[in-house]
Amino acid sequence: MSQTPLVITNPQDMRQYSAAARAAGQRVGLVPTMGALHQGHLSLLEYTAQHSGRLVVSIFVNPLQFNQQSDLDNYPRTWERDLELCAGQGTHVVYAPGVGDMYPQGFQTTVSVAQMTQGLCGAYRPGHFDGVTTVVLKLFNAVMPHLAAFGDKDYQQLQVIKRMAADLDLGLEVVGRPTVRESDGLAMSSRNVRLSPAERQQALCLWRGLNRARSLTRAGETQTPALLEAARAEIAATPGTKIEYVEIVDSTTLEPLASLDGHRARMVMAVWVGGTRLIDNMALN
Ligand code: AMP
Repeated sequence: MSQTPLVITNPQDMRQYSAAARAAGQRVGLVPTMGALHQGHLSLLEYTAQHSGRLVVSIFVNPLQFNQQSDLDNYPRTWERDLELCAGQGTHVVYAPGVGDMYPQGFQTTVSVAQMTQGLCGAYRPGHFDGVTTVVLKLFNAVMPHLAAFGDKDYQQLQVIKRMAADLDLGLEVVGRPTVRESDGLAMSSRNVRLSPAERQQALCLWRGLNRARSLTRAGETQTPALLEAARAEIAATPGTKIEYVEIVDSTTLEPLASLDGHRARMVMAVWVGGTRLIDNMALN
């Protein structure tokens, strides 16, 4: 179903729209994005359209969650194409507030999830998750969704948002959806456009590393050091790459594991490929 979405650009109008939809008995679904939409985003739109009566897609490149100005300045922006893609998925509303609408003069409130944001990406991107939880709570407050969908691709982000929703009694369903990959296994990401053809090949080491760990797990390995060593070796053998972290954590609490025994375990990693930082993760058991 293709329809031109209504574009709403400030929180007040968004709340008004959602209040009316809710009063009319509609289930409101939200997919938060930073635009530059790809198949990974579209899978979230499709799922949310199927599970709600009103699909809202937010497009907001959130300055609060970028810890490098150059990353923010160079973030891909493809507004016209994004709108078309949203239309193609039956989106009712594209919520695209300006920076001034989200963070007017005097803004000073931050939402912070304490422990789960300390490790993994949080250790390397100071302030990043506070920026994420703050903007996501603001989006929730404006859109008032019954359901919000996020990708497993940003695994720590998904678990942090689930924690926030539970801790703050947000009363909405936070759904995680599987990572959508290119045919050769690379996780789709808006930042992949920055990879040169050579780097695009090198980037496959993340997928290889994850698969190596999973096949060892299937063969019976349960000790974290051996699994980490195997994944790291796969990446280290690829020229032009630099490991930021590779870890195995409990899939809900994100606490590091010494052994997989008794846990649902997830391997999570961040790797620099040339000047581009890529993240990926996989369930091991
Ligand atoms: P972003 O626009 O990068 O902030 O991502 C918006 C949402 O899309 C987040 O919930 C991401 O986890 C999700 N997402 C990004 N890439 C993928 C992917 N390859 N597969 C599934 N979801 C994704």
